[in-house]
Amino acid sequence: MNFSNEITAWYENNKRDLPWRKTKDPYLIWLSEIILQQTRVEQGLSYYLKFSSAYPTVQSFAKAEESQILKLWQGLGYYSRARNMHFTAKYICTNLNGAFPSNYKELLSLKGVGEYTAAAISSFCYNEKKAVVDGNVFRVLSRYYGINTPIDTTNGKKEFFRLANELIEGKNPGNHNQAIMEFGALLCKPKNPSCNICSLAESCIAFNKNTISKFPVKSKKTTQKKRYFNYYVITDGKSLYFEQRNKKDIWEKLYQFPVIETTDEVFETPKSSILQHLTLELIDVKSLKHVLSHQIIFAKFWLFKSSKNIAHKNNVKCVRIKDIDNYAVPKLVENYLKEFFQLIN
Ligand code: SF4
Repeated sequence: MNFSNEITAWYENNKRDLPWRKTKDPYLIWLSEIILQQTRVEQGLSYYLKFSSAYPTVQSFAKAEESQILKLWQGLGYYSRARNMHFTAKYICTNLNGAFPSNYKELLSLKGVGEYTAAAISSFCYNEKKAVVDGNVFRVLSRYYGINTPIDTTNGKKEFFRLANELIEGKNPGNHNQAIMEFGALLCKPKNPSCNICSLAESCIAFNKNTISKFPVKSKKTTQKKRYFNYYVITDGKSLYFEQRNKKDIWEKLYQFPVIETTDEVFETPKSSILQHLTLELIDVKSLKHVLSHQIIFAKFWLFKSSKNIAHKNNVKCVRIKDIDNYAVPKLVENYLKEFFQLIN
C-alpha cells in the first residue's frame, strides 16, 4: 500500500467521532478549523459546540455583537481569530449574498483564511485536491521521509507543500487530509509516538535510523518575551474599575483592570492616574504568571479598597461586580477574578 492508502485505511478504523466530521457545511468547517488553530481538539470541542449552537449559520454569526463573540471565545486565546471571523462573516453576508466561496483560490481571499484553512474547507466540502499542511503534517512527513529541511524556512515550506500535494491520491482528498492530521495527532505524536503499532514503521526513515526526536527540524528557537503587568484592582465593595484593551497588542478589545506595564518586577505600586483623588487602602497583592506562545506575563494584582463609592473616571468604566461576567476578559484576569471573589466575600 502507498502512503495515502495506508493512512486513510488507518483513519477509517481509528478516527475520533467529532461533530465537524459529520458535515460538509463550509461555515461549520470554517468555524471548527479556526477554533482548532493552536488549540487541542479536547479544548476546542466545547467551543465548537457553544458557537455552532449560538450561531448555527454564517448569517447569525454576522449579526452577533462583537462583544458576545469575544465573551464566548473567552479562554481560547488568539482573540484576533474571533475578530477576523466576525469581519469575514459580515463580509460574506454583505458582499457574497451569504454564500461561502466554493474553491481554494477564492477562500484564500477571505480575511483570516490562510493556506491551511482554505485547503481544509475546499477539500472537506468541495473535494478539491489541496493538501493541508499543519504541525501534524510537518511532523509526520518529516519523520516518515526523513526530511531535514527546516519547516520554518521558505524552502522548507515549499518542499513540504509540494510533497503533501503530491501525496494526495484517490477520489477523496478531504479524507486523505483528515487522515494525515489525525495520524499525527493520535499516533505520530510530538512525544512518544506509537511506532510499535504504526503500519508505516517498516518504511519510516526516522524510525529506522532512530532519529525520531530530531524531526521536524526548525531553524530558530521560539523566544518568549517577558512582560510585567501591574493591575489596579480598585473596588468599593460593589463596583470596580474596568477598561478595554484598545492597543494593537495581545487581548485587543478584551476587558481588564487598569494596568501599568513595567520593564521589570516592582515591589511598590507604580504611580498611575487611576489612583489620584481616591482614598485607598492596599489590602492584597497577588502575583500570577501567564504563559503564551511568545510571551510570559508576570502579573501583579494590586487590590485596593476605596472608602468612598467609586465612579466612572476618564476612559475607565466603573462596573458593578455582579455584572462582571458580561465582559470578555483574558484568561489571566478570569483566573484572578476567582481569587478576587473569595477575597471580597
Ligand atoms: S514509525 Fe513512528 S515516527 Fe514513523 S510514521 Fe510511524 S509513528 Fe511516526
